Amino acid sequence: MTSHRLHTLHERSFETNRFVYPVLSRRAGGLSIGVNLNPDKICNFDCIYCQVNRTRQSETRFVETDDLLRELEDTLTLAASGRIYESGKFHDTPPHLRRLRDIAFSGDGEPTTYRNFDEIIEACAVLKRRLGLDDVRMTLITNASMLHRPHVQRGLAILDANQGEIWAKLEAGTDEYFRRVDRTPIAFHRILENLTQAAQVRPIVIQALFLRIQNEPPSWAELEAFCDRLNEILAAGGQIKLVQIYTVARQPAESYVTPLTNEEVDAIAALVRQRTGLSATEYYGASLNAD
Ligand code: SF4
Repeated sequence: MTSHRLHTLHERSFETNRFVYPVLSRRAGGLSIGVNLNPDKICNFDCIYCQVNRTRQSETRFVETDDLLRELEDTLTLAASGRIYESGKFHDTPPHLRRLRDIAFSGDGEPTTYRNFDEIIEACAVLKRRLGLDDVRMTLITNASMLHRPHVQRGLAILDANQGEIWAKLEAGTDEYFRRVDRTPIAFHRILENLTQAAQVRPIVIQALFLRIQNEPPSWAELEAFCDRLNEILAAGGQIKLVQIYTVARQPAESYVTPLTNEEVDAIAALVRQRTGLSATEYYGASLNAD
């Protein structure tokens, strides 16, 4: 998934790459090498704020593993050596962001819907080890809908053994709001169970995008229910290392969706801290391009 990533340079192509795209990411704190496992742009959610442009068909419909791995090796090598900053779009990268932080499984849909998810994760982990990039994280950016599936569980175990981290989306407290924002036939309780089970095995990061619908921000009751869901995960023995609160940054799927103000984002993060005791970080809509 996805489009839940915040980054300042977000083209999905890097020179001639088709599957691997380096981006500067505030949330990663440097250079993030995106791997797009959904070139067909298919997702099992249909979020009202999705920023994937589905009106334009992609040139590539299928993951071609050999090409993907070659692109990843080339891009990691360029990034790790620092040569990536010598010219082109990363030339003006500020010094504090000139760090290779992670390989992020993200892209134009939900990465765990890719049927060879475990195999590609394994192949990327092997490559990362071969290149000696032990301090580079592997980040799975996911809507959590498939975390219970065996091939995904196998992939998660590989991530756990290779500096992996799960950044999972949760941005509703009630079933009704979940359906309104994420527009999926998948049940809200399935998402909550998957998050809980994943968080019982390793600490996870929650990504929560809140927005205005027809100019209405989420109700306070919805936000309190969101905190209740986080507390239920904690009460079940789940660990949440961070809650990222953010808002719409780029052109959303629906024109009735607009960003929250910075103050509204701050207020939600403060509520999360106060109601759950968790760490929460804010990412504003308007300043996204100002890093
Ligand atoms: S989960 Fe939502 S935001 Fe992410 S790619 Fe799918 S529809 Fe877009």
